[in-house]
Amino acid sequence: MNYNDEMDFENRMVDPEYIEADAEVDNPLRPKTLEEYIGQAKVKENMAIYIEAARKRKEPLDHVLLYGPPGLGKTTLAGIIANEMGTNLRITSGPAIEKAGDLAALLASMNEGDILFIDEIHRLPRTVEEILYPAMEDFAIDIMTGKGQGTTSYHLPLPKFTLIGATTRAGQLSAPLRDRFGVVERLELYNVMDLAKIITRSSSILGINIDQDAALELASRSRGTPRIANRFLKRIRDFAEVISDGEITQATAQLALDRMEIDELGLDSGDRRVLKAIIEYYGGGPVGVETIASVVDEESVTIEDVVEPYLLQIGFLKKTPRGRCVTKAAYLHLGLTPPPEMNATVNVDQTTLI
Ligand code: ADP
Repeated sequence: MNYNDEMDFENRMVDPEYIEADAEVDNPLRPKTLEEYIGQAKVKENMAIYIEAARKRKEPLDHVLLYGPPGLGKTTLAGIIANEMGTNLRITSGPAIEKAGDLAALLASMNEGDILFIDEIHRLPRTVEEILYPAMEDFAIDIMTGKGQGTTSYHLPLPKFTLIGATTRAGQLSAPLRDRFGVVERLELYNVMDLAKIITRSSSILGINIDQDAALELASRSRGTPRIANRFLKRIRDFAEVISDGEITQATAQLALDRMEIDELGLDSGDRRVLKAIIEYYGGGPVGVETIASVVDEESVTIEDVVEPYLLQIGFLKKTPRGRCVTKAAYLHLGLTPPPEMNATVNVDQTTLI
């Protein structure tokens, strides 16, 4: 049983994961200071205090773990922290560091106070992760060379550095690694007003004319994710240049997004297929994420990291101990009739609330 007709999770406009085509707009658009970084008020406030305190003490910042769905500004924030601390930033990722020796070499080449950013830190191989424990805690690593009786161990002191780890899934981090981060901050999906501000800021940097209604229209379809908002902006700019004088109005934005099959809530055909699969094959749920993934022929991590967060945020999916359930709001959005017991459940919930 496969629900993959017209399925297209590859190259989705609404995929929040970084793709090469983002590079063109990503670099000039990344805010450089905390002040320029829009939204995420709580994280910003906390980081400002930690940065200020570390600067006053003339010490490197404590290790920071940033977690939350892709495209919300974790890499950007790491760059800002380095900028505000006046230090260098080295960027790598969990899957890119294959051997313990690679990490040891990287750490040994850093200067005092430098920041090492490891994206997707939950994907570090275990042997590499183990090198990080003493490096983070004692700023030293022990290297073993040779075999059997000829084994020699060297104690290599490291410069005091700051590790910033980013992950979409804090729950997958091993406890010893998680415990070594002094600062743990969760990034949330952005609200529409903050996304509209990001779109307006990006437009002015890129020299695009966009009116406020168009910025709001785009924002409300960007799934709470700046990376998607910037990607839409770039695509709609092309559209506006071809069909009008280049200015993005609400009508142009609507037309372009409709053509891309992004609906007014930012759902694309991939999201609709996930919801419909749960409804048609499992009566709306509950159903496990692995089962959903196999029905729509997609990896379960993609469903969990990319599709679900937004559907949960807008209340179209609910997580229950027995699996995911589609909500009444989702049925109505898809133009389907919710099962009668769903009305009953809503009433019972309301009664309980009263
Ligand atoms: P992540 O590392 O979480 O996947 P990035 O830091 O690469 O996300 O951000 C994706 C894009 O969104 C970048 O182009 C960045 O400029 C933009 N962006 C992210 N957060 C903000 C923000 N708070 N204000 C303005 N632009 C942002």
